Amino acid sequence: MVIHELTQQTGVPAKTIRYYESIGLLPRPHRAENNYRQYTPADGERLRFIASARSLGFSLPCCLLTMCRASIAFAIYSRLTAIQDRSRFRKESFSMTESGGCPPEAGNAVCELPAQNFQRPPRVTHACPVCGEKGKPVQGQTVKAFLSASLRAVQEVEYLFCKTQTCPVVYFAPAGERTLTVEQVRERVYQKEPDAEEVFVCYCFRHTVGDIRAASPQSQAALLDDINAGINADQCACDLRNPQGSCCLGNVRGVIKQGQKMPARVTH
Ligand SMILES: [Zn+2]
Repeated sequence: MVIHELTQQTGVPAKTIRYYESIGLLPRPHRAENNYRQYTPADGERLRFIASARSLGFSLPCCLLTMCRASIAFAIYSRLTAIQDRSRFRKESFSMTESGGCPPEAGNAVCELPAQNFQRPPRVTHACPVCGEKGKPVQGQTVKAFLSASLRAVQEVEYLFCKTQTCPVVYFAPAGERTLTVEQVRERVYQKEPDAEEVFVCYCFRHTVGDIRAASPQSQAALLDDINAGINADQCACDLRNPQGSCCLGNVRGVIKQGQKMPARVTH
């Protein structure tokens, strides 16, 4: 579900949901092809839990600590909301967090929320330092998978992907501390060479610009079905195969659409 549906379900405003995400109270949701946040029913449950804790007077840091023991806290929450015993909820949650939340070594093994030494990450600048266009966040493993140089060159920061065709930058770190250009990336990047026939558009199932353009409308529809079937069968690995770090479907549709706009080839 998208953010406004989550808002309707939980009564928590979208702005608050995004804020909870920024401080780590909610995990980062999956992004759809159009970059919209996609939430699961579990996110809705988690958000209701936080909203309840807040309405009972728990501060946000306290919620964070409580959420570190998410499964236990959630069990208590479920049990106690059933019997409406607010004071007991408070007492049990405090006893659970008096040791100061998850030990740092528990980390992500316990839940995807931060451990006790959590610090709010600094705000990132999203503009590419070379072309000035907005970048799209990619996972660290995407950058590591595509870097042709030593991984010692990768900083432990969030990287952004620059899709500007004329810009040599593929990945950049916020605040322009570091850029990785087309020469430093192991795979040719579709966005940088959208007219090169041999460059992949779908990296997971290996469809190039040329293949897609040359296919008949029926074959193009079959190709889209094949990609969708691959996605549904969990056979794609966009974060490791596609330099943009996300699904290629929008790009494939773009190439098909472009072909439809081009005048049909005249044969004599
Ligand atoms: Zn750029």
